[in-house]
Amino acid sequence: MKILLLGKNGQVGWELQRSLGLLGDLVALDRAGDGALCGDLADLEGLAATVRAVRPQVIVNAGAYTAVDRAESEPDLAHRVNVEAPRTLAREAAALDAWCVHYSTDYVFDGHGACPWQETDATGPLSVYGRTKLAGEAAIREAGGRHLVFRTSWVYAARGGNFAKTMLRLAREREGLSVVADQVGAPTGAELIADVTAHAVRRALRVPEVGGTYHLAAAGEASWWDYANYVIETARALGEPLALPEGGLLPIPTSDYPTPAQRPLNSRLDTSKLRATFDLTLPAWREGVARVLLETLR
Ligand code: NDP
Repeated sequence: MKILLLGKNGQVGWELQRSLGLLGDLVALDRAGDGALCGDLADLEGLAATVRAVRPQVIVNAGAYTAVDRAESEPDLAHRVNVEAPRTLAREAAALDAWCVHYSTDYVFDGHGACPWQETDATGPLSVYGRTKLAGEAAIREAGGRHLVFRTSWVYAARGGNFAKTMLRLAREREGLSVVADQVGAPTGAELIADVTAHAVRRALRVPEVGGTYHLAAAGEASWWDYANYVIETARALGEPLALPEGGLLPIPTSDYPTPAQRPLNSRLDTSKLRATFDLTLPAWREGVARVLLETLR
C-alpha cells in the first residue's frame, strides 16, 4: 500500500513518519518537496500533480497554516493552505478512491459553556485560523470521497515549537510569569495523534463505514495555567535550573492577555465517538506531557 504524507516536518507530521511507516510504502514530503514531487500546500496544481504521480491509497495531510495570530493579517495565505489545499487533496483522493486524512482544531468552536464539544455541535470560530480550518473540513466533506478528519487541541511534541517549550524557556529566564487561567482544553501529544491516526487508518481500510469527523484529544482537562504549572513543576522536580521561584506563576484572565486572534474559553473536546468507534483508550494529558519532558530534559 502507498501512503502520501504532506507536512512531514511539523509536530504531527514528524510523528506520522514513524507511525505510518508501519502501514505501507510511505512517500513523505515537506514544503520543499522531493525532486519532481511538489509538497507545497500553497501550490494547488503542484499538489494535484503529486497525487496523480504517487497514486496513493491514503493521503495524510499534516501540514497547515498554524500561526493563529499571524493568520489575522494573512487571511489569503491561511485560506489557500487550510482550505484550498485540503480541497485539492480530497478531490484528488476521491478520483483515486483513496482515503484523505486531515486534522482540524478546537478553534472551530466559539468556546461558550463548559461542556465538552461533540462532533455534532454547532461551530462558531472566533478567528481567521478557526474559520479557515472549519472551511477546510467542509471542503473535504464536499469532495465526496472517503475521509477521516481529526479535530485535536493544544498540540505539543519533543520536536517543534509549542507552549510547553515556551513555558520552560520563560521559566529559565524570568522570576515572574503570568499565564491565562480561563481557557480550558487538553494538551495533546503529537505522538498520540500519530498513533491514533495509524490505528484508525488500518481500521478504515477494512471498514470504510468508519469514515467521518472525530474529536481526538488526551483525557482530562487543564487551563493554560494548569498546563504551564505542570510543565514547570515537573521540570523543577527533574532538577532543571529555573529562575522562576515556586509560586512565581500567576493566573490571569484572557482579558489581561490580548492577542490579535480571539481564542475559545472552552476548548474541551468530547472524544467518546473516537474511543467507541476505534476501541481506543486515550491517556490522561499529564502522562504524555511528562513523557516528553523526560525525553527532552534528561
Ligand atoms: P506545526 O505548525 O507543527 O506544523 C505545520 C506544518 O505545516 C509545518 O511543517 C509547516 O512547514 C507546514 N506548512 C505550512 N505551510 C505549508 C505549505 N505552504 N506547504 C507545505 N507545508 C506547509 O503544526 P502541528 O503539527 O501542530 O499541527 C498539525 C495539524 O493539527 C494541523 O492541521 C493543525 O491545524 C492542527 N492543530 C494543531 C494544534 C496545535 O496546537 N499546534 C491544535 C489543534 C489542531 P514549515 O515548517 O515549512 O512552515
